[in-house]
Amino acid sequence: MKKTLTKIGILLVVIFLLPAGFFSIYQLNSLNKNELIIEEIYNNQLDAILFSVNQYSADVLNAWAAEVDLLLDADTSLNISQLNRFFREKPDIRFFFLVDSADYDKVMLFTAGSGQARDDSLAARISRTFEDRREVIKRLYQYLDNGYRKIEPLSASSDADLKMQIFLPGASIDAPYVCGFLLSPESFIQDVLGPKMQAVTQEKFVISVFQDTNNYQVYTTAPNNAEQERQLHQLPFWLFPDYHLSIDLNGQTIEALAQNRIRNDTILIIGMNVLILLGIWFVFRNIKRELELAQIKSDFVSNVSHEIRTPLSLISMFAETLLMDRVRSEDRKKEYYKIISQETSRLTAMVNKILNFSKMEAGKRTYRLQIIDLDEVVREVVEAYEYHVTQQGFSYHFERYEHKLLISGDADAITEALINLLDNAVKYSQEEKSILVRTGHTEGYHFVEIVDKGSGISDVNQKAIFEKFFRVPQGDVHNTKGTGLGLSLVKHIMDAHRGKIELDSSLGSGSVFRLCFPAYQHEEKALEKDATHIDH
Ligand code: ADP
Repeated sequence: MKKTLTKIGILLVVIFLLPAGFFSIYQLNSLNKNELIIEEIYNNQLDAILFSVNQYSADVLNAWAAEVDLLLDADTSLNISQLNRFFREKPDIRFFFLVDSADYDKVMLFTAGSGQARDDSLAARISRTFEDRREVIKRLYQYLDNGYRKIEPLSASSDADLKMQIFLPGASIDAPYVCGFLLSPESFIQDVLGPKMQAVTQEKFVISVFQDTNNYQVYTTAPNNAEQERQLHQLPFWLFPDYHLSIDLNGQTIEALAQNRIRNDTILIIGMNVLILLGIWFVFRNIKRELELAQIKSDFVSNVSHEIRTPLSLISMFAETLLMDRVRSEDRKKEYYKIISQETSRLTAMVNKILNFSKMEAGKRTYRLQIIDLDEVVREVVEAYEYHVTQQGFSYHFERYEHKLLISGDADAITEALINLLDNAVKYSQEEKSILVRTGHTEGYHFVEIVDKGSGISDVNQKAIFEKFFRVPQGDVHNTKGTGLGLSLVKHIMDAHRGKIELDSSLGSGSVFRLCFPAYQHEEKALEKDATHIDH
């Protein structure tokens, strides 16, 4: 059986543990790589978010430019009330202007309320910037030729308060002039971009806008957050080139996030391995038990056959001798009859034991509990057994308790338990042949104990001997006859009496089996003198 178990153990390890082990090692090794990949993914995501903010602000300006197209007609005479509504709806546009593309000195300024505005220094500033940045204007026309209208920032960094965004009128009309807005960047960021950024972050990130020159924070989505100053990722702000956008995680760093994931992965991998190990152990234990049971059952069959064969051959031998009338002396005849009778009762006892056991297994064994004197039951068994024991050369003593030992019990079942114990005491005493039966009382229990000076039972086996079919493995199992059922029957009987079995034994120095029954309390009326049936 050991060989089979080793094979099964190796098989389980090869099938389950090795692949899981390889997989775990591979996973643990690649965790570092994963960390880098996760970081990269996060970074790309953050970049994408900033990109979307930039894209959104460009879209807003495009939409405004489209509205301007509607305001303008071919001869540039603007409808004042429409213009005013335009400004009212877009308070961040401080001025709208048109510059003659042939002559940059011709600047028309418009502002809220008054329509065309006169601000010579502002107009001069616009013409000067146009002069300085001719290439940008040229680019706008090139874009338009390719069917694409672009809005370009056109500001010298000295223009701190108002920033210029220029574009050409819609492609449908001829473009003899360049259009432009003068925006206040800070109010544009606050009013137009703020809500958008708040919506994008969903409290998971912090997006901020900084001015490049002095790294001054113009806006942040988490104004009360201590970590708002952190700028993990930056991207230039397309509309306002001297500003930049920045983004960071709210609360955690990417490294911490990645490490968290790795820690969780590691815990998962270890947990999975522990589970697999537990599973293997569980499967192995069950297989081991099944194999042991199969072994035990086959031993049982061979033991029982052996036990039956001996009395049967004795009976048949003596019966034949008697039948043939070969025995002359009456004494001899009597002795032969006695042997036949003894062997028959041995057979009967064994068959009964097996029948009782199968009833017990099927849960059909019933007990008739009555108020009885334990001491009296024991006395009867001791007396009935005296001849058998002393004949085998045992010194045999019975120490009685001086009072009655009332218990609620089934006398037949207790007798059966005692006979099993006495049988064992006889069977397992080879050198020192002595049996002592003692009754007594201790802490709420009445007990009977059977003390022998036989082979004793090692600590390892003390629990197992009460299991069905279990026999202490010996060099030759057949040395002492037995079925391995006796003690499991005793245990079943004691459980039915709500009692317990105490065993005090050590290898080579004998054993004490003590059966303890709950003492019957007179005031307890639950247990009547009448027969009570308990099914087990
Ligand atoms: P059986 O005696 O038929 O083998 P039991 O269930 O009565 O089965 O006993 C189980 C095992 O416990 C025995 O095989 C024996 O090894 C051990 N045993 C029982 N009683 C004693 C005893 N008094 N002394 C030593 N060993 C004992």
